[in-house]
Amino acid sequence: MSSVLLYIPSLGHTQQFHPENHRRVEGLLSFFDVNNVLADMRLMDGKPADARLLARVHSRGLLEEVRLASQHGPGRIDADTYVTTQSYELARLAAGSCCVAVDAVCAGHAQNGLVIVRPPGHHAERDKVGGFCLINNVAVAARHAQLAHGVGRVMIVDFDVHHGNGTQDIFYEDPNVLFISLHLFHHFFYPGTGEADEVGSGPGKGFTLNVPFPPGVGDIGYRRALEELIAPRAQGFSPDLILVSTGFDAHWQDPLARASLSLHGYAELCRQLIDLAGDLCDGRVVFILEGGYHIEALRIGLLNLANALVGQDIVHDPLGQSPEPERDVSHLLVRLKKLHLPK
Ligand SMILES: [Zn+2]
Repeated sequence: MSSVLLYIPSLGHTQQFHPENHRRVEGLLSFFDVNNVLADMRLMDGKPADARLLARVHSRGLLEEVRLASQHGPGRIDADTYVTTQSYELARLAAGSCCVAVDAVCAGHAQNGLVIVRPPGHHAERDKVGGFCLINNVAVAARHAQLAHGVGRVMIVDFDVHHGNGTQDIFYEDPNVLFISLHLFHHFFYPGTGEADEVGSGPGKGFTLNVPFPPGVGDIGYRRALEELIAPRAQGFSPDLILVSTGFDAHWQDPLARASLSLHGYAELCRQLIDLAGDLCDGRVVFILEGGYHIEALRIGLLNLANALVGQDIVHDPLGQSPEPERDVSHLLVRLKKLHLPK
């Protein structure tokens, strides 16, 4: 079966000198084409998310705030998060395009999907925009899978270097969405949430799993977290669909963070998740772009991911490994296993 690709560069949502600008994804289709991966993917058109669906994820207040700010744009909703006159429509298009990929995968028309969208979504809470994010794309896709396709259990894995506080907020009390975030955690690092003891509440207790890495964690730490913690937790949950908040800002050269993944490490992480989907839910997995601000790391990271999705064993890594020794995560993993893996 094929892989679907949606490419929504949202060129009208951009701001000069802001790290989250249109140049991040400009020209990616031809880049995929010259690297021979486009022919193996089915390129689909996006469409805006339905208003009723958006209202199942966000408050009316948030949606109105984004719409009005955009109408009066360009401007900023908060210190980090800008809008242009096109941002509301483009954010709806980004979220709806994630649903198109979910449709293809859940209907069995495609094995898996990659959605290259802007603006990103995972910092948008139910009632609050933030961190460059207006509408929470992955959360809309998860709710859509449940409402339109009767999908019971959705697992969201977020490996953007920043905590997926928005996604966590939306599903914090929901036992049908297992939210797992691997991120760099420090009180001075945005957004400052995602500690190990944030595990969900009410019926959702135990369905939020935060992996708060210290700075300097790289390929070994991420691989171990996947193997020792996330894979067994996922097996216990038994998802029907896996969605991945795909940020490339944990790359060691990213200008906004201090994690140490290489492109090889990223490719392995993506392959581990694709394999997990193969083991647990007939391969149904959709990767949705979040952050990534070193343009070459982002573009090659996405190319490696696309190759993995179509079953090509090709990994490019012209940037190499971080020159710093990697931080050990053994103690953190012991603590997290106690919290999340029953004996
Ligand atoms: Zn990020």
